[in-house]
Parts: sequence; structure tokens; C-alpha cells
Amino acid sequence: MIYADFNATYPCQDSHLDMVSKTLKKVQGNPSSMHQSGRVARLALEESRTHIAELLGCDRKQIIFTSGATEANNLAIHANFREGSSTRQELIITGGEHPSVRQPAIRLEKDGYCQLHTISLTRAGTVDVHALLEQISPRTKMICIIYGNNETGIINPVRTLIPEIRERSATAHIHVDGVQAFGKVDTQWLGGVSGPDSFAASAHKIGGFKGIGFLFLRQPARIQPMLSGGGQESGLRSGTENIPGIISLGLRAKDILSRPDWLAPAKAVRDHLLQGLLKLPSVNIHGDYKDDAINLGNTVNFHLDGVAGESLMAHFDLANICVSGGSACSSGLASPSPVLLSMGFHESIAASSVRVSFGDSSTKKDADAILTVIRSLL
Ligand code: PMP
Repeated sequence: MIYADFNATYPCQDSHLDMVSKTLKKVQGNPSSMHQSGRVARLALEESRTHIAELLGCDRKQIIFTSGATEANNLAIHANFREGSSTRQELIITGGEHPSVRQPAIRLEKDGYCQLHTISLTRAGTVDVHALLEQISPRTKMICIIYGNNETGIINPVRTLIPEIRERSATAHIHVDGVQAFGKVDTQWLGGVSGPDSFAASAHKIGGFKGIGFLFLRQPARIQPMLSGGGQESGLRSGTENIPGIISLGLRAKDILSRPDWLAPAKAVRDHLLQGLLKLPSVNIHGDYKDDAINLGNTVNFHLDGVAGESLMAHFDLANICVSGGSACSSGLASPSPVLLSMGFHESIAASSVRVSFGDSSTKKDADAILTVIRSLL
């Protein structure tokens, strides 16, 4: 089997599983317990938090562990629109947002908590910066910007955009869905003064466990929790902490800190695939794949003229190659990708796109196998 769907989930390597299980054997207590076993678990928990904080250049206390990025995105959004919110307050999102941002935003508007504005993407795949800045007004309560897009691999210019947003609104909460960018691009500026108000990420996109993620909050004291109970995570996320997941996430963060170029092999394989694709007729690549500055470097999103997405996916499946149609989270190719629609592609194209995404264990042979399937269809 060839796995080329690392944006859907980045499988754990054996060495990582071994390290987590070795640590877990020594960490069995409940971190809220006062006795020795509890203290050992608390120590492990805080050590993981420290590694993540180092990757974000922030304070450890600004990291809140959650069940993943879906929860982290929801927590950030719901915290900003509560009792007393009304359609006088505006929520701005980009057309590239993941459903875990887009859906709560749509729901809040439907329930009368805000007025929602979705800013289109350009053909390059980045948000239309001019349109976004123009939309900001004194009514703007929150702005959500995806950092690296899960479908196209295109990176939004978040770092330069935040100061521009701040010039127009000093109070709007800026939230960044950093799931695909965390551990893959430099994020050590985020905790600084020109960083966002919140940032969500997930362990299973960087080779850690599924079901664990975090929300960075610039001012944790300012938000209300979604879950009440034992008061864990500074009262912002009650429930006994997912220690196996947190250890896994912390170990991945530690490893990435020591090897910032860990994804270089994925980029080499992506470049090899691109070289092959660009020689073929009828291949259309979506987003600006040429500009490394706005590209995660591991993803190619494309369609073939005259070939339905379902057919393309079926051929990859028959060849035992795992790739994804549009967003893996919205399973299947039946509905057009909102991201590609927002980039201005026709519905038929937005419903026929395929995403290939590589990891550090990918090889040029994987890319060659993908090219062989495509050639057989032309
Ligand atoms: N945002 C983005 C950009 C994602 O790619 C994903 C996962 N597909 C999520 C949010 C949700 O993350 P999780 O699986 O941890 O809930």
C-alpha cells in the first residue's frame, strides 16, 4: 500500500509509539491527584505543554489541551459569541476554512448570534487580503483565518496580515486554524505581540495520536469554557486529561523543535510528483504550487480534464494508493469542495479534485506510482 494522504492524518511511526508507551508505563496517575502518582502525571503533562509552548514562542499557561482541533476551533469561536451577542456583531471567515470553523460560524449566524461574512480566496489559493481588510469595521468581533489549507496546501500570509488587521481593529479577536501549519512552518513568532489571539492545532497531523489537540489563547482568563466540571486546564476544559495523547503531542513537538527541517523529504517527493505532472497534458494543478513561501510543500491538489473525480479515486484505490478527494473530513467526492469553489473553480472541477499529500516517510517511488495511475487514464 502507498500512503499519500498525510493531510488527512499523519500515521505514527513505530519509534514514536515505542517512546509514548515507554513513557506511559511510568505515568499512570491522574494529574489532578495530590499523591506521588498524580504528581508524576502532572509533571509529564506540563513537560508536554512546555514543548508546545516552545514551538509557538508563548507561555505554557496559554496552552489549553482539547480533544483535537475541532474542539479547539469551536471553543475559540463560541467563546466570542455568547449570550448578548447579536447580528450587530460580525464574524469574518475565509472561504478556505475547515468545516470545524465554517460550520459553527454558519450555525451562530443562523441562531442570531452574529452576521457572517465569508471572504473569497484568490486563484492562488490565499485569502483575498484586500477584501478581508475592507470588510473590517467597528462591528467586527472575530476574524478566523486558516493558516495552511488542508486541501490545497496553500499558506495564508497570516504573519503579515495580523498587523494590517490590527491597524483597522484593535479589538477584533483573530483566530488562526493552524492544524496543517503547526510543526511544518515557523510558528515561534505566534506568542509575540504581533501574533493572533488564538491558534488551534492537532497532534495527528504531525505524527502524533488522534483525539488530542490544543488551543493557544493569548488571554486565557478572558474566555468562558464550553465544558464545566472538575476545572482542569485552568477551568477552560474540564475532564481528566488525555495523558497518552498529551505525551504523544509533547514528544512530537520536542522532536520537531530539534529537527525543524523534518519534512524536507516530503517536499522532495512533492517536487518529483510536480515535475512528472507538469509534463502530462490534461493535468490541472490548483493553487500556486510554484511559490514556496505560500505552500506547505507536501501537497498537490489537481484534476484531470474529462476524468471524473470518482473514477480517478477508484483507479488509485485499485492500485492500493491512498489519496483523498477534496477534504477527507467531508468524505467522498460527491459534493464540490467549498475551498475550490471559493477559489473560483467551476462546480464540476470542485467536485473532481484529488489531493495528494506526502510525509517524511514518502519516497519518489510513491510519486512514480501515482504518475503511472494518472498516465493510464490519459
Ligand atoms: N482544521 C484543519 C485545517 C484540519 O485539516 C483538520 C483535520 N482535518 C481540523 C481542523 C480538525 O482537526 P481534528 O481532526 O483534530 O478535529
